[in-house]
Amino acid sequence: MSLAILGSLRPARIPGVSRWIGAYVWASVALVLTGMQRMGMPVLTVLVSNTLLAIAVTRALEGCREFFGLQPRAPLARIGCAVVAIGIAWWYWAEPNLAARIALVSAFHAAIYAAIGWMAIRYRPPGRPVYSYRFVTASAWLGAFAHGLRGVTYGSGMIEQNTLLAVTPLNVVWLALGILVLPSLSIGMVLLAHDRMAERLERLANRDELTSALTRRAFVAHAGEMIEAARVKGTPVVLAILDIDHFKAINDHFGHAAGDRALAHFGRVVATGVRESDLFGRLGGEEFALLFPAITREAAVMRLDALRVAALAVRRGGDSAPHGQEPSTPQTPHAGLTFSAGVDVLNPGDTLASLMARADAALYEAKTRGRDRVVTA
Ligand code: GH3
Ligand code: MG
Ligand code: MG
Repeated sequence: MSLAILGSLRPARIPGVSRWIGAYVWASVALVLTGMQRMGMPVLTVLVSNTLLAIAVTRALEGCREFFGLQPRAPLARIGCAVVAIGIAWWYWAEPNLAARIALVSAFHAAIYAAIGWMAIRYRPPGRPVYSYRFVTASAWLGAFAHGLRGVTYGSGMIEQNTLLAVTPLNVVWLALGILVLPSLSIGMVLLAHDRMAERLERLANRDELTSALTRRAFVAHAGEMIEAARVKGTPVVLAILDIDHFKAINDHFGHAAGDRALAHFGRVVATGVRESDLFGRLGGEEFALLFPAITREAAVMRLDALRVAALAVRRGGDSAPHGQEPSTPQTPHAGLTFSAGVDVLNPGDTLASLMARADAALYEAKTRGRDRVVTA
């Protein structure tokens, strides 16, 4: 069932999903082999099955690493698989010792599960709802606990048995936990994949592709919420409307594609120049809006002036060189981008629309006074 559900996610091309599917394929084969113990083929039912199960959890871990944008390969876990295989062979044929085998296998699985659970906490993308990530952590740590418990009780000799499938109470507990953990973890993986798809769709809906600024619709929605929150708290809010100067000339001189690159670079400059709490939206064309919460109008103007300085570094012809690297042949000797901005602070009784109208009027004033400046309403 885990395979069937994970398989349905393949077309979405989410990083890690193929490795998770691989993990459940190996686990299925391993568990079938484990169940065939009485057939008297220990190479298959003991050595191969345990090694495949170790490979399966390693694949699951590597799938998680890929999902969270890390280098997927986990060399330590791979070495662990080899150690498990060697240990199993040694303690089955050379020096038969069931307890040692159980302890080794359990320790390995506990470590991998613990690592998966930790990763889901550590690498949750900021701002994403925690539920699916916590679910994965809970499932994985339940697995780590179950394997840890099994390793300690059998490995320490607290419990002695000579067949793995003996019907003892602890074996039943272990089996129940095992039955719970594998599907829970796969459900957790499905939740993660869905969260990643939701994130993509939200981004498509709310972010302007070119500049990574909020779309007009998303900006208006968030700005409305922020204004309400500021009213409740009694903190000031400042709105600025920015319009790049003579942008049409950039398109005319360097082409539309260069204009696009300049816009994209401008978006990055603004995004890095404002605070995490500031709202940055593209109202349309080369016109943008910034909403600064908890700030005075004077401080906002200072930030905008700093942005004007930073925008001068944006080559007017667009920068096609990799970020932070000088192109070998500068495309243009021209100065960087300039913009004009109109600014005002939220008054009691203002709506977002009335505040925007005043900032817009101030922007018009900035344009008529010669551009490349910030004007307060
Ligand atoms: P002003 O200083 O008065 O603002 O002059 P301007 O040329 O910047 O203003 P105008 O409104 O005349 O021109 C804006 C131009 O921006 C026209 C349009 O072709 C261009 N533009 C709008 N969106 C995009 C875009 O996504 N990419 C590119 N390359 N150009 C765009
Ligand atoms: Mg303009
Ligand atoms: Mg304009």
